Amino acid sequence: MLRLNAHPSGRHFLQIPGPTNVPDRVLRSMDYATIDHRGPEFGELGAAVLAGMKKIFKTGSHVVIYPASGTGAWEAALVNTLSENDLVLMAETGHFATLWKSMAEHLGLRVEFLPGDWRRAADPDAIQARLREDKNHEIKAVCIVHNETATGVTSDISSVRSAIDGASHPALLMVDTISSLGSIDYRHDEWGVDVTVAGSQKGLMLPPGLSFNAVSEKALDASRKEGGLRRSYWDWHAMIASNATGYFPYTPATNLLYGLHEAIGMLLDEGLDTVFARHNRHAEATRRAVRAWGLEILCTDPARYSSSLTAVMMPEGRGADAFRKIVLEHFNMSLGQGLSKVKDKVFRIGHLGDINDLTLCGTLSGIEMGLGLTKIPHTTGGVDAAMAYLAQGAEVRSR
Ligand SMILES: *Cc1c(COP(=O)(O)O)cnc(C)c1O
Repeated sequence: MLRLNAHPSGRHFLQIPGPTNVPDRVLRSMDYATIDHRGPEFGELGAAVLAGMKKIFKTGSHVVIYPASGTGAWEAALVNTLSENDLVLMAETGHFATLWKSMAEHLGLRVEFLPGDWRRAADPDAIQARLREDKNHEIKAVCIVHNETATGVTSDISSVRSAIDGASHPALLMVDTISSLGSIDYRHDEWGVDVTVAGSQKGLMLPPGLSFNAVSEKALDASRKEGGLRRSYWDWHAMIASNATGYFPYTPATNLLYGLHEAIGMLLDEGLDTVFARHNRHAEATRRAVRAWGLEILCTDPARYSSSLTAVMMPEGRGADAFRKIVLEHFNMSLGQGLSKVKDKVFRIGHLGDINDLTLCGTLSGIEMGLGLTKIPHTTGGVDAAMAYLAQGAEVRSR
């Protein structure tokens, strides 16, 4: 039976790496009548959210907003820029990189997938080596997932850019920032990214339902080429033409755009650098807890730890899903499940979006109590380790 209205006391802890907890301010901002999307007020809202998203992407170029999940924006990036049989270079960082690769194949692209072990970031040296070999410039795009949400590993996009430049290769650079935008430092223009893909329901603290492309002039030029992949709904040109006056070619998700306006305001009020520092701090506190429990972090490269989530490996022979089920039943908290290759082997702690020190302490407490209830071999004291770290940071900040 669907129990959406069952009401246990207190808040549900939605500590999956997206969708994330939606702040009350954002919820309230959407609780207004839906307006005429072709009427006089709408243009102002449309223009404001488009301008605001440019600040979040750090771009002076175009931003396109779709009423779609992140998967739609993945498709938009590919179909607007590439032609059938084009070769695309992707890096196997985890489940999401694998899904994007499958989509590219379904769309009639050829994909070369640089293999990975799901514990490390995309390797800029391997990308450069492959591009150097590609003397005839058959590779048309390099597609990288910035923050691999399945593993908790963040790839270094500026190094990928340097790798492409070092090979003097003209391929487009496309980056999925669905679980990093608004949580982890990202710079569309400075890093020379051609298409950035994002979604509403993770760092942007909105419900699911919106997704984004930030588009460079080079990508826009590629989209004007004759004989590109077929597209209609996803076509950038109709969008960008309407967006010039703040309107959309078809019905936008009006109320989600009210929420987006509020969320952009919150992120910019806090300051993006402060937002990123907050995520770094909460991620470090989480890792200290995991280490104190004696559990292993899936990411093997400390330089590439994700600040939006941590994937935790279960001890040999213990299932992550049974553990998550107990935590949900006893403490009303959802933790992220392991996906495909790491199914039941890891659980994921989302620490992105609308989170503060005490939300994180509550989250880690639920995990520590769950480890105890399920008798998973561990050392207690993870929450203490996290609290000690957070208290230290609070002291420094109040000086
Ligand atoms: C969540 C996520 C997606 C999928 O987005 P949907 O909104 O579920 O379509 C893709 N890539 C990454 C990195 C994600 O975190």
